[in-house]
Amino acid sequence: MSGFVFSEKPIEMVEGEGAYLYDDSGREYLDMGASYACVPLGHGHEAVQSAVTDQLGRLTYVQASYPVEIRTELYERLAAVAPGDIGNVWLCNSGTEANEAALKFARSATGNSKIIATELAFHGRTMGSLATTYKEKYKKPYEPLMGDVEFVDYDDPAALAGAVDEETAAVIVEPIQGEGGINPASTAFLQRAREATAEAGAALVFDEVQTGMGRTGAMWACERAGVVPDMLTSAKGLGNGFPVGATLCRDWIAEDYGSHASTFSGGPVISAAAEATVSTLVDAEVPAHADEVGIYLREQLAERLGDSIREIRGRGLMVGIEVRRGSNRVLRDLALEHGVLALPAGRTVVRLLPPLTIDRDQADEVVDALEAVVG
Ligand SMILES: *Cc1c(COP(=O)(O)O)cnc(C)c1O
Repeated sequence: MSGFVFSEKPIEMVEGEGAYLYDDSGREYLDMGASYACVPLGHGHEAVQSAVTDQLGRLTYVQASYPVEIRTELYERLAAVAPGDIGNVWLCNSGTEANEAALKFARSATGNSKIIATELAFHGRTMGSLATTYKEKYKKPYEPLMGDVEFVDYDDPAALAGAVDEETAAVIVEPIQGEGGINPASTAFLQRAREATAEAGAALVFDEVQTGMGRTGAMWACERAGVVPDMLTSAKGLGNGFPVGATLCRDWIAEDYGSHASTFSGGPVISAAAEATVSTLVDAEVPAHADEVGIYLREQLAERLGDSIREIRGRGLMVGIEVRRGSNRVLRDLALEHGVLALPAGRTVVRLLPPLTIDRDQADEVVDALEAVVG
């Protein structure tokens, strides 16, 4: 074996610019997946590239216990864009670590252990986050996982409220499930989760690893529902391709978080990438643009695909198209015949998570390709 454990695609990518990727034969692909929402500003974004290059020239790394200007700026930036008063920031390297931290913080701050998650949830692949992930195929070979996790129906306010009690440390929810099939929660569900956790003294955690960073047409999906959690986790698009995650939390959590730590927490180069990404999203009003193009894209999809698909779900530029056959075939045809890259979300959903900077012409391009493949 020559040493890889991941499945590979039969296309080698060598270059990226904006919403496009180029393979080793020079073929152009419209990247409607942004490699799982990881490049919200598109490939090779000027502001991020130059922030990283500048920081590389100054200081690549110093242990996290020394304050570093760029990390302090990132803390301030994230606190400024955080919904409500969840401005305490813990930095890490990935989404699963951000959730792992949230679970540990909740247990420490509440003194309880029970965690409530939702059916079809995806929160990551390390042992704790994995225990709150729903699908057996991700978990089975690694059991026993962290215990005391209970799953309730997604988007069922009564089931959730019934499960939360005095023993509960946290409820963890994606405001729109990504991996689970692009399933948006109703505002009523998120509000009920807020009330039930507040009454019981448990922490409400929103996993915005996929929905955050402007993806749904607002900086955070929970803003659209007007519900502020006790903790919010971010990663994927946070560094526009650089590996960084964050757990934002309220004071009562930060004051009693225990002794969690990580060597690379908020390294200078990664902080520079995230700071540039967040400030560009805010200054260029990217979430509002994503909202507008997302509405257009979903309208066009509905109009042009009609009955040849089952359903279109999502918000902003987080779009799920439930197709009438296996999504893998559709994705392959989109890529090989039309040069459009998209993602699956379960067996029958084609998932679009493009750079938030795409324009209407690029939205038209994906609609044309989908019409040709499934129409
Ligand atoms: C991708 C994802 C994660 C895990 O993030 P990694 O960086 O792969 O560890 C967690 N939660 C959600 C909602 C995700 O989409």
